[in-house]
Amino acid sequence: MMLARIRYRILLVVGIATMLGLVATIAFYSRYQERTLLSQHESTMRKLTEAIAEGLHSVMLAGSADIAQAFAERLKAVPDITEFRIMRTDGIEAFQDNKTIIEVNSRRGEELFPPRETANRVQVISKDDVNLRRAIDTAKSVVIYQDDAAGNPQLSFLAPLANQNQCHRCHGKAEAVRGVMRLTTSLASVERDILHARQQSFVLFAVALIATVLLTGYMLGRVVVRPIEKVTNAMARVSDGDLDHKLAERSNDELGRMGAIFNQMTAQLQSTYRRLRREQNKITTVIETATEGIVVTDANKAIVLVNPAAATLLGKPIDELVSQGYELVVDDRDFIAHCLQTGNPQDIRYKQHDLQVIATEIRGSDTAVIGTVILIRDVTEEKRLEEGLRRTSTTDALTGLYNRRFLDATLNAEFVRSERSQVSLSVLMMDIDHFKKFNDTHGHDQGDRVLQMVARCLQEQVRSFDFPCRYGGEEYVAILPSMPSDAACRLAEAIRVKVADTEVDGLHVQLSIGVATFPGIKAAKPEDVIEAADAALYRAKETGRNRVMVAAASEAA
Ligand code: GH3
Ligand code: MG
Ligand code: MG
Repeated sequence: MMLARIRYRILLVVGIATMLGLVATIAFYSRYQERTLLSQHESTMRKLTEAIAEGLHSVMLAGSADIAQAFAERLKAVPDITEFRIMRTDGIEAFQDNKTIIEVNSRRGEELFPPRETANRVQVISKDDVNLRRAIDTAKSVVIYQDDAAGNPQLSFLAPLANQNQCHRCHGKAEAVRGVMRLTTSLASVERDILHARQQSFVLFAVALIATVLLTGYMLGRVVVRPIEKVTNAMARVSDGDLDHKLAERSNDELGRMGAIFNQMTAQLQSTYRRLRREQNKITTVIETATEGIVVTDANKAIVLVNPAAATLLGKPIDELVSQGYELVVDDRDFIAHCLQTGNPQDIRYKQHDLQVIATEIRGSDTAVIGTVILIRDVTEEKRLEEGLRRTSTTDALTGLYNRRFLDATLNAEFVRSERSQVSLSVLMMDIDHFKKFNDTHGHDQGDRVLQMVARCLQEQVRSFDFPCRYGGEEYVAILPSMPSDAACRLAEAIRVKVADTEVDGLHVQLSIGVATFPGIKAAKPEDVIEAADAALYRAKETGRNRVMVAAASEAA
């Protein structure tokens, strides 16, 4: 957990690096100290050995071999000198047997030294010992580091005793070296000094390590960690929405620049945020005040926005809309799916209203769907007006029948259909008898009511898919698709009788009717059928009125 903090991670690295450096330095320094101490000791011992050799030499020249022996014995008692022996070149301890005394006496030709009463022959080192031979052959001291039987380190010197001119009288001059002195000292005190030096080094190491880590930690805290923590805290505040928070830009270094960039960033964020906020307010106002219903979902199809107009148009509270989901805004899942599929406005009758719905998927810059928007418009009034307009443009205001314009269009379509399918198309042409006179007698308004009555009779008698029209004035036409001539005649007769029998304000009128059926009559164009019916009507008038006449083939245009 601690290592999660940058300060401790850097400290760990610095600590390990410092420790490795110090360990290497101290290891080198300790070895150097150890070598120095040993070489100092060796040098001291060498000088001591030389001094002893000189002393011995002087004693021997004075002819006091016994004093030399006593001198050697006393040296053994010196602390740290564990052994001191003088031996001849064959490795046998000197001054212990009578070999040398006999040789000297014989060389001098007199009994100069009395022989010892107790003679010991002590072989100190093998005659062929490498070190002994080297000391003798080179006439120089040989230094030997070795452990004693108990494992304690020792330093031994094999120092050659030169056979000088003064010695020749007693010992001859055959050998360059008279004997070898072995001085052995304990290295215990040197080891102690080395241990002491190591302990000091260790303390120094620990102090240096602690000081380095503490100093590095303090500097890291001041120079790196605290500024980073400040930036981190500032970022946390900004991420919590406090875009006003600023960092103090103190230093000119990277951290100072980081602070400056951070401030620039928050300033930019703030300005972008304000701009977006303004835009959002505009959009919200537009959405809230729109007369169109707007329902928006997120990428997961959950409703995230419903404007008041949507709730009003759909007659449901916003909460209910949100909980039902966008697919059930008009309680018809398939309808919304169809809207989404086509992308075009679709109409639906919902709760006594005509609604127009557009559903579109909203796509992000990567074309992934990020939501859906449903726009709802109440088109009830539009539809009503449209229907009214349509009716006005196709019907006659007085009678409510189709007008002349509609008749022309319908006749064309039905004529083409009949021509193609060879199914009969009948047309009735009707005209009120002596209507001018009626008007003159009863007035124009009364005439209008009669026109309406005739229209009602006509409407009642035709089939639902026939087209009864007011052709003009007091003339009517009925287009009767798929109706043969005889049926058309029967229908015409029924209309005639109905009109004749119906009274308006106690008054009656009569009707003459001409019938034409295509393809019974020859007709090259729709108007020919009308003309044929008109010709039949003319005949009905001529032959006495109030009757039905059928167009003969010859009456065709
Ligand atoms: P016929 O039996 O030969 O048809 O005699 P008619 O008097 O009906 O002759 P005509 O067809 O020439 O007369 C048409 C009359 O219909 C003339 C006009 O006064 C009357 N009329 C035409 N349009 C209207 C209308 O919209 N309202 C009223 N009240 N009368 C109309
Ligand atoms: Mg007429
Ligand atoms: Mg008439």
